[in-house]
Amino acid sequence: MKIHEYQARELLAGAGIPVPAGAMVETVELAVAEAKRILDSGTPEVVIKGQVHAGGRGKAGFVKLVKSVDDARAAASFMLSNRMISVQTGPEGLDVRKLLVAAATDIAKEFYIAITVDRMRKCNVLIASAEGGVEIEAVAERNPDAILKLPIHPILGLQSYEARDMAFRLGFKGKQVGQAADLMMRLFALFCAKDASMAEINPLVVTPPTAAHPDGRVIALDAKFQFDDNALFRHKELQLLADPAEENAAELRAQEFGLSYIALDGTIGCLVNGAGLAMSTMDIVKLHGGEPANFLDVGGSASEEAVTEAFRIILSDKRVEGILVNIFGGIMQCDRIARAIVTSAKNVGFSVPLVVRLEGTNVVEARRILHDARADIPTMQVATDLTDAAQKICAAVQSRAAVSTAR
Ligand code: GDP
Ligand code: MN
Repeated sequence: MKIHEYQARELLAGAGIPVPAGAMVETVELAVAEAKRILDSGTPEVVIKGQVHAGGRGKAGFVKLVKSVDDARAAASFMLSNRMISVQTGPEGLDVRKLLVAAATDIAKEFYIAITVDRMRKCNVLIASAEGGVEIEAVAERNPDAILKLPIHPILGLQSYEARDMAFRLGFKGKQVGQAADLMMRLFALFCAKDASMAEINPLVVTPPTAAHPDGRVIALDAKFQFDDNALFRHKELQLLADPAEENAAELRAQEFGLSYIALDGTIGCLVNGAGLAMSTMDIVKLHGGEPANFLDVGGSASEEAVTEAFRIILSDKRVEGILVNIFGGIMQCDRIARAIVTSAKNVGFSVPLVVRLEGTNVVEARRILHDARADIPTMQVATDLTDAAQKICAAVQSRAAVSTAR
């Protein structure tokens, strides 16, 4: 599960990490009012930031520094009426419904700090760089030495001497060292307490020296979190932060029916039972020149209703040009799938080619049901095995594509 930046800042503040004050608003008018309030209080600059579950906002025009109410209005209207498209979103981008409005922070230097899980080392790892700001991915490619990694001992945790050492290696000076090390310790504690799989601050900034803070202050400007879904049951406070508007609607609906569904961008909808079989079905579709439109594991004990819902989800994806059903009935009974196909044909209709491969428990009954329903499902073909099924659906989708380009 992911959360918004404004929520991440609240979590950080609660853990004693310095963040700038800010307000979340959902309309242009409220954004303008908040910007006016900040400017009137004597702060010369306001930052307006689109709140979406993806980064790369800066480059996409969804982080704007403004000095007047008019510019605040222009920035807020732009963000609330355009989709945010960045390297992290894919070409379709994301709808922006919320904005963070805050007094702009003066920046002397930007750093990067994150804690995540290192699966190869089987431990958490602190990742840091003195080249923070936008596009840490580019730094990793161009200058991998600029990214420092510190594996964290699974039992001892992050030690304060390690955090101080990291602060020195990043080039923090004077009083900044203690602030940065303290911040790393707090971030690690928060990461553990919330069962996070990723906690990232980018940029972590040092502010220019002032009379009160001659060495500047170390402040977290932008933060992203990812929490382990399997641990969410013990974090009611995190569950409250979920924003359904940011989730894929079809994936949410699938979840309600106990289906594991992940939307992809191909054209062949797959309905399979078992995660392993679903993966191999996707592989074999690709092998025969097709692209899967989704991963879908209906599981072993899905009801006829849940399977019917699965078809509804696949059929409501406009990119889907063909459907491949691949069931190996162990616990799942093939006749249940066959009945769901017949019900879906009645309720929704298979306007696209459908290839069905069934094997296992109650397969004879299932074949009889499908045979009897042939007239109602003219786009259906029955396959004998997985290769035959993949070849049939790929051929059917390709010939459809050929027909539509010929038109
Ligand atoms: P991201 O692009 O989605 O990661 O959004 P960020 O919040 O990290 O903002 C991108 C960049 O905008 C930062 O690296 C900063 O350079 C700049 N920025 C963001 N907030 C402020 C601010 O309060 N003051 C100043 N001067 N720059 C900011
Ligand atoms: Mn950032």
